[in-house]
Amino acid sequence: MADTLAIGRVSISRVEESTFAVLDPFEVYPDMTPALLEANLPWLAPRFFDRAAARLNLAFQGFVVRTADALIVVDTCVGDCKSRRRASFDQQAWGWLARLEAAGFRPADVTHVVCTHFHVDHVGGNTRLDNGQWVPSFPNARYLFPRAEFDYWASKAGATAMQRTGDYLADSVLPVITAGQAELVAGDHALTAGIGLRPAPGHTPGGVVVDVQSEGARALLLGDVLHTLLQIRYPDWSTRFCVDPVASRRTRLDILRWAADRDVWLLPNHFPAPSAGRVQRWRSGYSWQFAGEVSPVFA
Ligand SMILES: [Zn+2]
Repeated sequence: MADTLAIGRVSISRVEESTFAVLDPFEVYPDMTPALLEANLPWLAPRFFDRAAARLNLAFQGFVVRTADALIVVDTCVGDCKSRRRASFDQQAWGWLARLEAAGFRPADVTHVVCTHFHVDHVGGNTRLDNGQWVPSFPNARYLFPRAEFDYWASKAGATAMQRTGDYLADSVLPVITAGQAELVAGDHALTAGIGLRPAPGHTPGGVVVDVQSEGARALLLGDVLHTLLQIRYPDWSTRFCVDPVASRRTRLDILRWAADRDVWLLPNHFPAPSAGRVQRWRSGYSWQFAGEVSPVFA
């Protein structure tokens, strides 16, 4: 897709907050070795890996799903003015909400917001600063939060895990609940005709993917089931950020196996533009072909 993918009568647009060289591959993947990095550099660099920075390029973005009767934002990026531990997330001014509006999606028109999971880079734009107070960025939307996800991050274990990033629950989730706009939903949840949440546990305990079906076409918005194309090449690889790496692997393998046999678009949140693509079986893993491109990235 350029920026919009048509799934039958539904459209899915990507609205990017940023793309930059952010992750050290040895930090994020315990299975990475210098030899494996070297072997994959021919396809990784420069598009997916910045040699000078020695970091993987990731996109941060939200997707807007437009149906006949709903305008749904899936994931809300890092957000502006938030106090965070990672310098590249701290007190930023990306202007993502203005970019949404410029793309034709007025925040006031959004009917639903879905957070695939409660990580710092998926909830930040849920709220904005208004006279020193955090208020919902989408004043007329229902925010669908997976209940298991909320329960985990509100627990002692979740609070401990959140120390890595800064307390985003306080500034990006709780104000939505206080405003009465949140709905805690099951992992399997029908949102509107053809659009549903499906459980995708592992990366986080209550994480979900968003399933979009219209007129025989289908797409899955994957959140962080996959972070980079290395997990297409090596689907066994979970990240150090996965709360349960074993369950994360199982979820990823299940989805890839399922998708490789079907005509379905996958939209991993952090894949650089155009983000959407399809998987096919290749060697011990899979190959990936981006929307609008003629050949797979490797293979
Ligand atoms: Zn993420």
